Amino acid sequence: MRHAIGVDIGGTKIRTALVSDDGAITASRVTATPMTAAELCVAIDTMIAEIDGGRALSIGIGVPGRVNASTGKIFSGGFVDLSGPPFAKRLTQVRGRPVYIDNDAGMALMAEAKFGAAKGLPNVVLLTIGTGIGGAIMADGRILHGRATAGQLGHISVDANGAPCLCGRRGCIETTSSGTALRRLMTNAGLADSTSVGDLLHFNDTRGKSILRDWAQPLRAAIDSLVAALDPDLVVLGGGLGEAAVRALADFPTLSPWYQCTVAAAELGDNAGVIGAAVASLESPP
Ligand SMILES: [Zn+2]
Repeated sequence: MRHAIGVDIGGTKIRTALVSDDGAITASRVTATPMTAAELCVAIDTMIAEIDGGRALSIGIGVPGRVNASTGKIFSGGFVDLSGPPFAKRLTQVRGRPVYIDNDAGMALMAEAKFGAAKGLPNVVLLTIGTGIGGAIMADGRILHGRATAGQLGHISVDANGAPCLCGRRGCIETTSSGTALRRLMTNAGLADSTSVGDLLHFNDTRGKSILRDWAQPLRAAIDSLVAALDPDLVVLGGGLGEAAVRALADFPTLSPWYQCTVAAAELGDNAGVIGAAVASLESPP
């Protein structure tokens, strides 16, 4: 059995795990995400040293933001700016093992397609619904990279006159259907911060229904466009709000007989990132 180390850099936590090629986690560590890239390198290296045991053949790192997986270059790092120092190179030198870097959603999709909700399916689209919206596409069993950064599915625009997005366009689903967007819809409707999507789904009033409609309908439009473009076997929704989004979408089925595709919740939860990163590093050419 082969082992690799998977690292998942999140906004608040970094997860690290020693993973076997059947997707089982042998050892793991979690720590708070440091504020600077230099501190992040030290934290990752320390955690790897604790769980390595000399068994890992390679190291995979899932990074939020835009990444060129073939070169390891990070264009933007989300919460911590990793676009400067080539930290994959540094880790490779320190640890003596090849380091593979990709977008965190690509890593999560790898795990879900091997061991989770999309097990065995060759054509899968994943959207991660959290603070923002991430995404990844698997076509014929391979993660689609395009020239470098394919799969930025949070930036599918469903309204050319919609709210401005960080990417420079308007009406991207990150602005309408992310966790941040949902919180804004709830605040605008005068709901307390403690209100959850679960509460909304149980609300039997027009206010709850209208919030869920404003949140889920743009997401439905984007999913239908993805199905039209890619014709996947399955659409998987992950991230902290993935399961809630699947439930909310049930009230907004596709209106088109052409674009039918099952939408399912991710199954591997917080472990998808580290499992996918480890397995991707074993499968990627050095
Ligand atoms: Zn955008």
